[in-house]
Amino acid sequence: MALKDEIAKRRTFGIISHPDAGKTTLTEKLLLFGGAIQTAGAVKSNKIKMHARSDWMEIEKQRGISVATSVMGFNYDGVKINLLDTPGHQDFAEDTYRTLTAVDSVVMVIDCVKGVEIQTEKLMEVCRMRNTPVICFINKLDREGRDPYELLDEIEEKLNINVRPLSWPIGMGKEFKGVYSLYNKNLHLFTASKTKLEGEGISINNLEDEQLEKSLGVNYANQLREDVELIEGVYSEFDVNEYLSGNVAPVFFGSAVNNFGVKELLDSFIKMAPAPIERETEERVIKPDESKFSGFIFKIHANMDPNHRNRIAFIRVCSGKFERGKTYHHVRADKKIRFSNVTAFMAQEKELVDEAWPGDIVGLYDTGNLKIGDTLTEGEKTVYKGIPSFSPEIFKEVINKDAMKTKQLEKGLSQLMEEGVAQLFTYEMGARKVVGTVGALQFEVIQHRLKHEYGASCDFMSMNLYKACWISSKDKKKLDEFVKSKYRHIAQDKDGKLVFMAESKSWLTMVQDNFPEIDFHFTSEF
Ligand code: GDP
Repeated sequence: MALKDEIAKRRTFGIISHPDAGKTTLTEKLLLFGGAIQTAGAVKSNKIKMHARSDWMEIEKQRGISVATSVMGFNYDGVKINLLDTPGHQDFAEDTYRTLTAVDSVVMVIDCVKGVEIQTEKLMEVCRMRNTPVICFINKLDREGRDPYELLDEIEEKLNINVRPLSWPIGMGKEFKGVYSLYNKNLHLFTASKTKLEGEGISINNLEDEQLEKSLGVNYANQLREDVELIEGVYSEFDVNEYLSGNVAPVFFGSAVNNFGVKELLDSFIKMAPAPIERETEERVIKPDESKFSGFIFKIHANMDPNHRNRIAFIRVCSGKFERGKTYHHVRADKKIRFSNVTAFMAQEKELVDEAWPGDIVGLYDTGNLKIGDTLTEGEKTVYKGIPSFSPEIFKEVINKDAMKTKQLEKGLSQLMEEGVAQLFTYEMGARKVVGTVGALQFEVIQHRLKHEYGASCDFMSMNLYKACWISSKDKKKLDEFVKSKYRHIAQDKDGKLVFMAESKSWLTMVQDNFPEIDFHFTSEF
């Protein structure tokens, strides 16, 4: 039963946060515990600092770094942990959303000074779409932050999820004394240390133990007793199933940069976070322990080396065992496909692998056959659900600047879109091409890469568009009528799905009222 054992010991998750809350720092500490790195400072932030507008070096560096840190695999306490990196910059939010489809759970980092920030809210919405279990880590307790009760209320309110503290901070900022684990019933005293790994903590069998006074002083000891009583009274008993179904987020407190509360987080994480779970395809639910391999592509990195048009496609193994060199079925293309060059990402090193198990992410060297969302199987014709496109926020029309390079432009655009850099909409009328993105930065990336990787040049002309809405209707005739009457505003997305390009919110509302038989969707998955 090798398959079942391999599944049981895997945890595949992502860390999400608003930029600057401490995602990179926490990642690094987790890797330290996993022995995947030896020194602090080894994990580079994949943040793009947007001070200089066209900082190409930064963008190129970002691409390099994000391949290296896309997936970090390490072993801890007999568990194989796959940590998927998510770009923090909001302009790369789509990339993050897609990565979240490949994880089984999420750790959300919240800055105790700033509380719940806007990017955290958006990411949480994505987690809710698939009921992904979430653990919260409230970070930077060494700073004068907000009242912990207030923070918990804010999480519940803004993120629309119930919380259950499993640890509790004693003091804060300069007076930060440590954390009491409500889960393990022991006390960790705080020492600021950027390099040391924290020890086991002091065991407290019950809160009346005089050890508490000895360690914390009378005032803090009493305060802790009161807090614990209050918490146990207010919050119901922690039920791991409620966490697994995405209803309750357990909360931990700590300070990532000081490596404090991180081990506790990790120890609890491996105990409660889900092993690879079953996943939905268009046709049926596939369990990870089914003997036949299946998986889906959630990320593509193209043209890392301009001299070789190679790409790495990241596949999440969902069921069975993946084997290098074996022939698989590429469902969309309906053809056989085989990979001899397969990498896994262990301890930040890329290494050739021969096999991978459910929960694992491997990189497939591909010459252009694979797209984001593609499913590979051992023959079954089924497609994994769950790589949605969201309506972009910024739209610009593509203007070809060099008529001699039209072919290159089209090829470049289509490949970049396959990589998921942005979305392309082609108007039914006049075949005008419109690129939609969530952030302004993407347009610069596209222009730069078209030029350097494809030798094509284009301009972008701003368009006054509010949303791209995917349209459908139970009544095919009504849909046809709608398309006819709004022909000038109808486009197709990259998969040929019909999209209504709405110019303003009020106009969209009006159109929705006038055509009640038409369903308007803000994501491509419906
Ligand atoms: P990311 O943008 O979420 O990846 O955030 P980083 O990990 O890069 O952290 C942002 C800043 O917060 C850095 O300067 C970190 O050193 C700092 N930081 C991270 N954790 C802590 C903490 O526990 N306490 C304090 N005071 N600063 C922290």
